[in-house]
Amino acid sequence: MNLPTELDPLKACRAGQVLEGNLVPTDLPRLEGLMGKVHYHLSCGFNEKKEPELRILLQAKFTLICQRCNQPMQYILNEEIYLEEPDVFKPIDVIEDELILALPMIPMHEEKDCAFSQNTAYSPVENENNRYKPFTDLGKKLDLKE
Ligand SMILES: [Zn+2]
Repeated sequence: MNLPTELDPLKACRAGQVLEGNLVPTDLPRLEGLMGKVHYHLSCGFNEKKEPELRILLQAKFTLICQRCNQPMQYILNEEIYLEEPDVFKPIDVIEDELILALPMIPMHEEKDCAFSQNTAYSPVENENNRYKPFTDLGKKLDLKE
């Protein structure tokens, strides 16, 4: 980790500072146990309005527990964040907050990958005929003139 503990946005943006590197789980205690490696790319500059702007790209791989089948699932996260931070801040805290916010509240496998849908008899194809079709009878209903 080559992230400074604190970053002065104005200074960093004037200097056009770019910080790039990887974080390991121990860097982000609130996410320890969930994440693999996090790659960050932080670039500082000015937006069209000439205001200091920080752009953070985050790529991370998490192991979450699927809320449908209770099995672990890989979750790849790609986040792009723009910060307009007037004050000195702690980059590591911002990254940790953003990762937590970006994680799904209820992680679930894709249906095809989920152990739950494979283990149950439910199959969308087999149940085609039982599916509720609200518009099937519409034609008939429209013919009902009193
Ligand atoms: Zn699942």
